[in-house]
This record gives sequence, C-alpha cells and structure tokens, in this order.
Amino acid sequence: MSDIALSADSAARSPLATEVARRRTFAIISHPDAGKTTLTEKLLLFGGAINLAGQVKAKGERRNTRSDWMKIERDRGISVVTSVMTFEFQGHVFNLLDTPGHEDFSEDTYRTLTAVDSAVMVIDAAKGIEARTLKLIEVCRLRDIPIITFVNKMDRESRDVFDLLDEIEKTLALDTTPINWPVGRGRDFMGTYDIETGGIRLLEGGGAKTGAAEKIEISDLAGRNPNLDASEVADELELVKEASKPFDLQSFREGHMTPVYFGSALRNFGVGDLLEGLGRFAPSPRAQESNLRKVEADEPRMSAFVFKIQANMDPNHRDRIAFARLCSGKLTRGMKAKLVRTGKNMSLSSPQFFFAQDRAIADEAYAGDVVGIPNHGTLRIGDTLTDGEDITFIGVPSFAPEIVRRVRLGDAMKAKKLKEALQQMSEEGVVQVFRPRDGAPALVGVVGPLQLDVLKARLDAEYQLPVSFEVSEFSLARWISSDDKKKLETFMSNNNSGVADDVDGDPVFLAKNDFYLNYTKERAEGIVFSDIKDVK
Ligand code: GDP
Repeated sequence: MSDIALSADSAARSPLATEVARRRTFAIISHPDAGKTTLTEKLLLFGGAINLAGQVKAKGERRNTRSDWMKIERDRGISVVTSVMTFEFQGHVFNLLDTPGHEDFSEDTYRTLTAVDSAVMVIDAAKGIEARTLKLIEVCRLRDIPIITFVNKMDRESRDVFDLLDEIEKTLALDTTPINWPVGRGRDFMGTYDIETGGIRLLEGGGAKTGAAEKIEISDLAGRNPNLDASEVADELELVKEASKPFDLQSFREGHMTPVYFGSALRNFGVGDLLEGLGRFAPSPRAQESNLRKVEADEPRMSAFVFKIQANMDPNHRDRIAFARLCSGKLTRGMKAKLVRTGKNMSLSSPQFFFAQDRAIADEAYAGDVVGIPNHGTLRIGDTLTDGEDITFIGVPSFAPEIVRRVRLGDAMKAKKLKEALQQMSEEGVVQVFRPRDGAPALVGVVGPLQLDVLKARLDAEYQLPVSFEVSEFSLARWISSDDKKKLETFMSNNNSGVADDVDGDPVFLAKNDFYLNYTKERAEGIVFSDIKDVK
C-alpha cells in the first residue's frame, strides 16, 4: 500500500521531497532483556542491511578486535556509542537509532529520542510494561512521538494477551489496536492472524517472510496442532475483531494510539510485518520547531541539530564525532554550513554515515538522516548547523540526573584545570555539572552510572586529572524557575546551600531525597521545579 502511495505521490513531488518522504527515522525502546538486540539484528537482516545479524552487540572475541574503541567499552564488553543503522526495505530508507541500554543507559538514551520520528516499543510478552520502558515512553510523550508496539517472545509462555493490551492502555494511556493476533500460546504458538486480511501466517513454512500471509482456514489448524481447539481460536478472533478499535492513522501520528504486533524476534517471526508497518504507518521526517518558526523537512535549505557527541572513538586522536540529525534539505559532502551558535562556517568535508560498527563517507544525506561530523570540540549538544537563515532548533533537552556525586580531586593545585575540564565535559553532554552557589566543590549528575566511568576515564586520559567520586549530601536535582523574578531570588537566597548553577548558568535546586524535595516544593509557592530543561 505504502509503495503504491509512494510512487503515485512521487510524480508530483520534487526529488528532495521524494527522498524525504521515503525516510523513516526511528528508535527501539524497551526494558533490558525484552529483545531489543535480537529484534535489531532481525530488522537489519530483513532490510538487507549492510551488516549481518550478530554484529549489533558484538560480544566476546569480536569485541577484542575492535582495538580502536575506548578501553572502557572493551573492559565492560558494552557499547558506549549510540550507533545509527541505515537500511532499505520496500523502497523506504530506515534510520534506526540505537538507544543505549543496560548499564550504558545514559542521557544519550533520552537524547536519541529527540532525533527520531517514531519509536518501536518492544515488550516481553511474559512481563508486560517494565520500568525502563515506562521512563522512555515518558520522553517520547514530550514530543508526541508515535509508538508502534511489538509484543516479543510469543514463542514462550506469555501473560494473557488481553491483559497485556489492557496494561498498555492503562499504564501508558495509549489506545491499542492489534494488527495481528497470536494463534496458540507458548509451546503451541503457531503463528499470527492478520486482522485486516484474515490470513493466518504460520511460524512453520516460510511464514516469517514478509508478503501476503499464507491463507489457511482456522479449521485446518487443529490438524496441524492437536493441542489447539479451533473453535476456541475462532471465538477469540471474533472477540478481538469486535473489541478492538480500528486503526486510526491520525490518532497514531499524534501519539494517542499504538498499533500492536505480536511475534518472536528470536524465531524471526512477525519482524517483516513490523517493518512493513513502519513503512506504512510511521511518519516521514516531521517538521521541527526552531526559535523562529517550524522548519519543514522538504525545505531546500539544509538544517540539522546535534543530539550526541561521541569522543575518543580513537584514543590516539582527540577528534570527536557529533551526531547530527538533518531536519531539512540535503547535505552534500564538502558543503559549508553555519554553526549558528558561533556564527562561524564549517566545512562538512567528511560527513559520515554509520552502519552499526562501520562508517562510510556520506556523499549526500537528506532530512531524517543522521550523519557523523568529525570535529575537535567545536560542536556541542543542541547546536544547529545550516546553510539557510539563522535558526536554532528547540528540542534537545537536559534530563534531571538520577545520580549526583561530588568530584574529588587528589591534587588541589589542579582545581582550575578541573573546572575547565568539567565545563568541556558538560558541553559535550558527558555529564551535567552543578556549581553550588555557596562555593562548595562542583557536583556532577548522570542518568546512568557508566557516564561516571566515562568521565573518570576521560579526565584521566585527556586532562591528566585523576579523580574519584563521593556520595554527596544531595541526590536529586531540579531546575527551578518562576514567572516572578523576585520570588525566585528570595527562594534562592533562603536555600543558598541547596542551589547550584548548571552549565548554562540556570539555577538548579539540589535535594537530599524525594521527601525533602516535596517538602520544599509544597512551601515554595510560585516556583516551578522541573526534571527536564529544554534548551534555548
Ligand atoms: P535486549 O537486552 O533487549 O537487547 O535483549 P536481547 O535481544 O539481548 O534478548 C534477551 C534474551 O532474550 C536473549 O537470550 C534472547 O535470545 C532472548 N530472546 C529475544 N527474543 C526472543 C524471542 O522472541 N523468543 C525467545 N524465546 N527468546 C528471545
């Protein structure tokens, strides 16, 4: 359907608009172990991607051959990079932005979600919605990012399927609409029933391949699996059809409804359907808000924003890679673009595309694509690059840290150097730095503990500053603001020892714990406490 629409439309579109329209930039969000890595591998396989499955989360010996990666990555056997995987399928170009998970969960995980147009939520069928998923969905909600649900591990014992849908509806306040429905459960899982076409796709016999579902009669199922009661299956499917809301594209695009796919990433089942669904339903690159106006993706001028900085891909070089999401126009290799924050031009001489662990020079890229731009510290998180008017994109927010620590420096003589280094690290988005107004030593805040390890390793390697971290009297940080300047000033002077400045000089309230935070909040009339700060 999408392909027909695509080719019919493209006749009337400019070449730029055609390229933009076929792009789908998305992320997979899930709780650890739900199957994100397995699904990613299978998506890449389906998409005839540049990488073979198995390369996504290289483990063991393969990891050791990647000697140019940060030591910390090798030691832990995990990936610090947010990689971007680009592949084509049925005429669409998919940009899958990997959201770091497990121990490497960090602010980058959140920030990546500001660079996608849709998200696939992977749920373990036996577990339902888990904590991390909930947190990531909250971030998606900030941008009304449409969510497609993949209920994974249907080949195992699962929770009641109606219960799962109910949980999604209740916990996430999202309407659900199943696109397919599992036939049989656990060991008797036989395949899925396509609710739109009425075909049953079987797990056995090529069912995993995309295309029309193999049409078999429900009554035939029993012959294939004596454990299955065909009339029960038929009744259930009737019930599902009656009970489920029809898919509503607008409601999905506005982030109110999620289409649900059932499958098994491990068995490569339902993955093709999911990919087809992404092509069909997920939006092409959306218009992006800037400080001046909304920027449409098919505008001719190139514009992009930086959502992630990766340093030290090669410890022998101090180069950094800034990951920029193109918001409009076309980027061509060698073009000049203005870095709006400084007003200076940059030559984009070697923009890079990322294919899991590989990189390649990008000759051209379009809105929706993500390119890596090598630089020596010129680019910061949230920066806008453009060859058009001076706009600044809004939308790479800071997230309140979940861990706050005090940096302890062995050599007091190097305090000034540490201050500079921390400033640099926070501009790069490695950690957040809070400077208490009472002059106490700086605090650092992170979302995931690995960020602290990265900070320590980098301060040591790049600035020869051996540091350690101490638990501080504070464990929470919230940005504070008020419409009434006086009120804010009074609050800050009354709470002097609990107020700090962030990297931009914006005030932050530091609290011992939730109880103390709530206690203060209740008494601070007119002050807004926020756990997210939008930039600019
Ligand atoms: P991640 O932590 O979300 O990236 O999860 P992984 O993809 O690493 O999967 C976690 C575990 O679940 C691994 O042992 C996978 O083999 C297993 N797994 C993933 N998908 C499925 C599935 O569809 N069925 C079954 N039975 N196991 C799965």
